[in-house]
Amino acid sequence: MTSPSYLALAESGELAERVRRLDGLLSNCTVCPHECRIDRSLELGFCSTGVDPVVASWTAHFGEEPVISGRRGSGTVFLANCNMRCVFCQNHQISQDPEAFREAATIAEALADIFLGLQKQGCHNLNWVSPSHQAPQLVRALEVAARRGLKLPVVYNSNGYDSVEVLSLLDGVVDIYMPDLKYADEENAAECSRVADYPRRARNAITEMFRQVGDGWEIGPEGTLERGLLLRMLVLPNDLAGVRESLQWVAENLSPRVGISLMAQYYPSHLAVTSRRYPLLTRTISAGEWRRAVDGLETFMEGDHHWVQDHRLAPAYYRPDFSDTSEPFTDRRDFDLSEPTPPEDI
Ligand code: SF4
Repeated sequence: MTSPSYLALAESGELAERVRRLDGLLSNCTVCPHECRIDRSLELGFCSTGVDPVVASWTAHFGEEPVISGRRGSGTVFLANCNMRCVFCQNHQISQDPEAFREAATIAEALADIFLGLQKQGCHNLNWVSPSHQAPQLVRALEVAARRGLKLPVVYNSNGYDSVEVLSLLDGVVDIYMPDLKYADEENAAECSRVADYPRRARNAITEMFRQVGDGWEIGPEGTLERGLLLRMLVLPNDLAGVRESLQWVAENLSPRVGISLMAQYYPSHLAVTSRRYPLLTRTISAGEWRRAVDGLETFMEGDHHWVQDHRLAPAYYRPDFSDTSEPFTDRRDFDLSEPTPPEDI
């Protein structure tokens, strides 16, 4: 395994400097594109999260893409709360219920213990899920953990609504960027996730991630990703995500060889189930919608760094339940996802 680059930054003292600069953003918060400009030690902004880390769950996770989960699992750390409000969020129990985590703030040393515990379990990587609003807290803990022997590559697994300034401070800290690109259309982003500027912000963020790691992949001896970019696109019903348009943008503005994970797992959740306000979101995707997304992947992208979910199994398999935060995912052995089946005919 190649050493993650944050170890060199830790050795030189640069990682501590990055912590200082990231922490500096919290007093007039511009940690994410909302730019609430509040002092997070005194009040809460859109993400309802203060200056200390707030973790909802951590586990060895086998349901990520094979190149992330590998044989021994991805060391996922689910951060509580979020800087988006997706009405269909499958993680809404931990992303949109800040009251549940009001007393859950911890300290960097305790979060470092979690990181080191996942390494001890044999996980291939440290996978920060929904890190955008807690980047300073995570790097603070990483600096502690690096001094105590952490060697896992870091996966930045975000919704894509990230600050370019923060990402520039993560250059050399994060090894694997795995952001979503959720929408190509501002109206859909506003209606479904409450962030109208999502397409512009996410494209800027992903451009910065691409600048740092490019379209090449470094693969370790056990077949897992150790450095690179893997872009996730969740296909929504009624083309609300605009996946083909996003794929075309990636191919024309970044590279047609960027790794893509095309996701069929959408199922109505959270407000998309209980509210009559979102009639376009109340079903899983059709075979035709999935076929058009796969066709977009084949039309615009090149290379072999792509993963497509199994359209028929995905909505049932990828269904977390965070009422049990120690084991929120279905046992993968109940499903055979080793060979994704081709999409059905339209
Ligand atoms: S991280 Fe939170 S407080 Fe800071 S700008 Fe984003 S939503 Fe606002």
